Amino acid sequence: TNAPPNIHSILFLAAMTHPDRDYIVYQDERVTYKAMLRAVENFAATLRDTYGVTKGDRVAVVMRNYPQWPVAFYAALSLGAIATPMNSWWTGEELQYGLSFAGVKAAVVDPQIFERIHEHMEDLPDLKHVIIARDPGDEHNHPCVSTMEEAIGPANSWADLPELGMPNVDVGPDDDATIMYTSGTTGKPKGALATHRAVIANMFNSLTCTARMYLRKGEPVPEPDPEVTRATLMSIPFFHATGSFAILIPTALRGDKIVTMYKWDAGEALPIIERERITSVGGVPAIAWQVLEHPDREKYDLSSIEVVSYGGAPSAPELVSTIKRRLPNAAPGNGWGMTETCATVTLNIGEDYVNRPTSAGAPPSAVELKICDPEGNPVAEGEVGELWCKSPSNCKLYWNRPDATAETFRNGWVVTGDLARLDEEGFLYLVDRAKDMLIRGGENIYSIEVESALYDHPAVMDAAVVGIPHKVLGEEVGAVVQLKPGMSVSEDELRAHVANQLAAFKVPVEIHFKEEPLPRNANGKILKNELREQFTPRG
Ligand code: ATP
Ligand code: MG
Repeated sequence: TNAPPNIHSILFLAAMTHPDRDYIVYQDERVTYKAMLRAVENFAATLRDTYGVTKGDRVAVVMRNYPQWPVAFYAALSLGAIATPMNSWWTGEELQYGLSFAGVKAAVVDPQIFERIHEHMEDLPDLKHVIIARDPGDEHNHPCVSTMEEAIGPANSWADLPELGMPNVDVGPDDDATIMYTSGTTGKPKGALATHRAVIANMFNSLTCTARMYLRKGEPVPEPDPEVTRATLMSIPFFHATGSFAILIPTALRGDKIVTMYKWDAGEALPIIERERITSVGGVPAIAWQVLEHPDREKYDLSSIEVVSYGGAPSAPELVSTIKRRLPNAAPGNGWGMTETCATVTLNIGEDYVNRPTSAGAPPSAVELKICDPEGNPVAEGEVGELWCKSPSNCKLYWNRPDATAETFRNGWVVTGDLARLDEEGFLYLVDRAKDMLIRGGENIYSIEVESALYDHPAVMDAAVVGIPHKVLGEEVGAVVQLKPGMSVSEDELRAHVANQLAAFKVPVEIHFKEEPLPRNANGKILKNELREQFTPRG
């Protein structure tokens, strides 16, 4: 097309190479690579000609994992606009914040999002156009609102759209591509700005890690069979870095298929895995557990699964052995990354992961990791400290946040806020988030260590450890636990189980049992701030 490498030329090449393969499957909508390219070309023309979107404009993409999501995303990129995905779980106020913060000019939203934002449109002076991505059912007579179907029709007709070619806009590797909001686990979401180069570089991180796993075993890296397509079950949203940078775009690079769902539901996922011959499931650890523990799992043929990989949150080492036991043909994988690094940096996969079930893998060759003290000086080998990451996939800055940018982006390094250590072979072990570490009477307690001891009990399905404020000690250990269906254990038994593994001062003084799942954000991360509120200060 124009000045590759850029992200949308990956879709262009995929549509040239395998036009008739399925790219996105959603219920009875099957969108081939050719159909996706046509939709992108035609929608880009509409964005440019009707809505005046030009290079550098922010175009928001806010909807569930519909096939219209990648249409809006690639179309914006092909115009040199900055695609700005937003969390489709956000409330009207949160959406207003996201839209105004990035100065979004055009927003492509689904009808539910439209319902949440239309009353805020008067307060969004930069927002000139809202395009409703799916048929909204009734009339929307606001002068600034139109529908994607008016422009390009429903998904199953996209293959018949005229071939327009990608817009003639010069978009190169150092142009800005996306503003991706962080998950907001530790505070208000920040908008991390990535270039086309960073997003493309990200794909090589997991490819390199996977290749190295074979090389470490002394085996040749298997050549992918060009006739065989793989299929990912999309259990996480496209709007997070992992969804778009680690799944949507790399899938196009390989000419593979993505199957999306209206919302994640393990019971509904099982028949889809069988029917679509899904080869890759996961996303976050909680999703992997839900598939592996589902009472109906033996009623379905899950033998097509080749990879169960996840990241984004700490996982219990027991997850690895459970994958090996329940899905013996599948390689388990655990990746570490963050929005600021455009998703996956390290990936621990296959035998390496089985041998080191608590590691998130070693950095790929293009990446440097270091462990530093709070002043930014490297700590002694093997010690715990803050993880710094220099990756070609690193973002440039936080949009409109010079203060936070200066703290996090330093001379090509991302200062991660994660506490970690590296072993002598360079494997990375996440210890905690700096913000989640407890300090009890001067002793550091890593919440993940206590959570692992809780997970280790056979009745425990999910666990989170938070600090309970204590007048004298500073903090004490509190835990919230969800048990597996039909299992029971008392607070004292669970405490004894932890005490068998950890020093007495790390044993939770208070454990809350929950029937319902622990509160998580859209990316499956436990919202510890909500849990902290459930404990009464002591001392
Ligand atoms: P915010 O920055 O807004 O508070 P967030 O940090 O959760 O939210 P993301 O960028 O989605 O936003 O998540 C990155 C973080 O997720 C990492 O910094 C790390 O704490 C955690 N994480 C990622 N991968 C892993 C992993 N494999 N094991 C443990 N933690 C992980
Ligand atoms: Mg973060």
